[in-house]
Amino acid sequence: MRIAVIGGGPGGLYFAALNRQLHPEHEITVWERNAADDTFGFGVVFSDETLGGIEHADEQVYGQMQREFARWDDIDVHFRDEVLTSGGHGFAAMSRRRLLFKHILPNSLDALIVKWGADVGSTVLVITSLSFIGAGPQPPSAEWGAMVSEGAGYITTAWWMAFFPGIAIAIVAVAFALLADIIQERLAAGEVR
Ligand SMILES: Cc1cc2nc3c(=O)[nH]c(=O)nc-3n(C[C@H](O)[C@H](O)[C@H](O)COP(=O)(O)OP(=O)(O)OC[C@H]3O[C@@H](n4cnc5c(N)ncnc54)[C@H](O)[C@@H]3O)c2cc1C
Repeated sequence: MRIAVIGGGPGGLYFAALNRQLHPEHEITVWERNAADDTFGFGVVFSDETLGGIEHADEQVYGQMQREFARWDDIDVHFRDEVLTSGGHGFAAMSRRRLLFKHILPNSLDALIVKWGADVGSTVLVITSLSFIGAGPQPPSAEWGAMVSEGAGYITTAWWMAFFPGIAIAIVAVAFALLADIIQERLAAGEVR
């Protein structure tokens, strides 16, 4: 079955994840109007009611939440020397730092490395191209694009002046693009986690 989900909020994303768990053969596309890196903070605090829904739908995630989350019920209001306690507010949450460093960062590190590899290659090409046309760092800065540009004037008498910086640019750009490709392929094959 092909499913189109309109909206990548918690509802849309979790529906897509749960549906794939139940039916791996389904093809699901989530359409979100906001940019991919816009964030609005999901799951800061969960009520008992929300947790009950998650327990019902996804026992594995619920079990992890149970282990990691702090839970509370009473809310104390401190006013001058008096403490007023209000009960019946079942809530659970975990520290943002722990969520970030223990769960989000380790799980997104591979994707970050792939993006970093691809970005380094393209950044080298942009910077050297700018220097080649005279818009980037210029001599005496040691910059490969400027070296190629300067060496181009002596190509018949001293070819190595343009050749070696040009080769260095090609090697660095291709090496980082290949590195990103290899990591991406190994991720897709499940060899890296
Ligand atoms: C300030 C604040 C704090 C909150 N704190 C908590 C909390 O601590 N704990 C908690 O459990 N809940 C909290 N909530 C409530 C929680 O954010 C919502 O219950 C939850 O976001 C609802 O999820 P949803 O997927 O149904 O809708 P939404 O989160 O509204 O997601 C809908 C998505 O659909 C996208 N969309 C809409 N129309 C289109 C379209 N035509 N095309 C493409 N995309 C579209 C929107 O951009 C949006 O990303 C908080 C809410 C707010 C405002």
